[in-house]
Amino acid sequence: MPTVAPASAQDAISISILGATGSIGASTIDLVLADPDRISVDSLTASTNAEKLAHEARRVGARLAVIADPDRYGELKAALSGSGIEAAAGRDAVVAAAGRPVDIMVSAIVGAAGLAPSLAAIGAAKAIALANKETLVCAGSLFMGAAAKAGTEILPVDSEHNAIFQVFERENAGEIAEVIITASGGPFLRMPREALATVTREMALRHPKWVMGPKITIDSATLMNKGLELIEAFHLYPVEPDQLSVLVHPQSVVHGLVRYRDGSLLAELGEPDMRTPIGYCLSWPRRRPTSVKALDLAAVGTLTFERPDRDRFPCLVLAEAALREGDGATCVLNAANEVAVEAFLQGRTGFTDIPVVVERTLSHMAASGPLAAPASLDAAMDLDQTARQIAREGLDFKGTVAS
Ligand code: NDP
Repeated sequence: MPTVAPASAQDAISISILGATGSIGASTIDLVLADPDRISVDSLTASTNAEKLAHEARRVGARLAVIADPDRYGELKAALSGSGIEAAAGRDAVVAAAGRPVDIMVSAIVGAAGLAPSLAAIGAAKAIALANKETLVCAGSLFMGAAAKAGTEILPVDSEHNAIFQVFERENAGEIAEVIITASGGPFLRMPREALATVTREMALRHPKWVMGPKITIDSATLMNKGLELIEAFHLYPVEPDQLSVLVHPQSVVHGLVRYRDGSLLAELGEPDMRTPIGYCLSWPRRRPTSVKALDLAAVGTLTFERPDRDRFPCLVLAEAALREGDGATCVLNAANEVAVEAFLQGRTGFTDIPVVVERTLSHMAASGPLAAPASLDAAMDLDQTARQIAREGLDFKGTVAS
C-alpha cells in the first residue's frame, strides 16, 4: 500500500483497535501502516491469538497489547519481549484498554463480547469507529444515549452504514422517506429452499464479494447480517423501523441509499473493500486517499436490484420483528444467533436450524410478556446470558434442531 502525503501536526490522531487480529483489524492496520506519520496506535486487543497480536503490535508500534484469554498472557509477554510494548490479559484488561484516552477507538471485536469495551470507550475516545454491530443490537439505546451524553461521536464502519453516513443529511432528516441497505444476497441467493438444508460450513463460508471473519460470513449467508444491520441503522439514524429497507444488489457496488421526499435518491458507490469505510472514519470529517482500487462503472456494466426473499431467508424476518419489539428482543435475537452460528461452524447443527434456534429462543423468552430494553450493561449481559442458555438448551435437547 503506498504511503499518503505527510500529515500536519493538527491532523495527527491516536487510535486503539479492539479486535486487532481480525478482518477489520487487518484492514485498519493496513491503513495505519500507510499513514504512520499521522496515525499513532495506543492499544491493540485480541481474544486468543497472542502471536498475531504481538506481531501486529510491533508492526504499528503500539504502547499496549491486551489478550482477553488470561492463559495466553505468558505467550504474549514472551512474544513482545524486548519491544517495550506493555502486555496485559483478561477481559477486564480489554475493557480497561478501551477506556484509555485516544482520538478514535476502532471497535472491531466480534459478537456481544464487544459491548462492554465499546461502552468503556465512551467519554475516553473522542470518536468510536464502530464495526461491532452487536453493540447496537444488544443495547443500542443504552449505547447511543451514553455516547450522546458524553459527546462521543459514533462513526459507522459497516460499509452500508458508512455509505448512509455519507449521504444522510441530518439537517434534512424530516425530509427523508427511506433508508436503504443493500445486500449482496450471499452465496445462496439463487439456491432453492429445499437445498438450503444441505448447506455445509465450507459452502457458507465462501462469500461471493466480501472477505470477512467467519461469524459475519455465516450471518451474510443466512441474511441475519442484513437484519442486524437494520437494527444497527435504526440506532444510528433518526428514522422509524418502517423507513428502513433492504435491497439485494449482487454486485455490491452501491452500499447504501437515502431517499428524500423531493424525489432524490442519494447513494455511495465503491469497490467492496472495507478500507474505504474504515479510512473514511479515520479521516472524518475530511477525506484522504487510500490504495483501494477506483471503481470502474463501465467495467462493472450492469447494476441489478431485487427484493430479498423472506421465505428462504427467515432470519431477516425474525430480525425485523425483533426491531419492532425493541432492544430486549434484539438482544435475545443476537445471543441466540451467536449460539446457533457457533454450533453451525462447529458442525453441531444445520444451516436451516439457525433461524429455528433464534425463533424458539425469542418465543420462549417473550412467553411471559414483552422483553424490557436493557437499562445497563449488567442488564444487557444478564439478558444475553439467559438467552444463550435457552438457545443452548434448545440445541442440546435434540442434538440438532429440526426445522
Ligand atoms: P473476525 O472474526 O475476523 O475478528 C474478530 C476479532 O475479535 C479478533 O481480533 C478476535 O481475536 C477478537 N475477539 C473475538 N472474540 C473476542 C472476545 N470474546 N473478547 C475479545 N476479543 C475477541 O471478525 P471481523 O473482523 O470480521 O468482524 C468484527 C466485527 O466487525 C463484527 O462485529 C462484524 O459484524 C463487524 N463487521 C465486519 C466486517 C468485515 O468486513 N469483516 C464488515 C462490517 C462489520 P482472535 O483473533 O484472538 O480470536
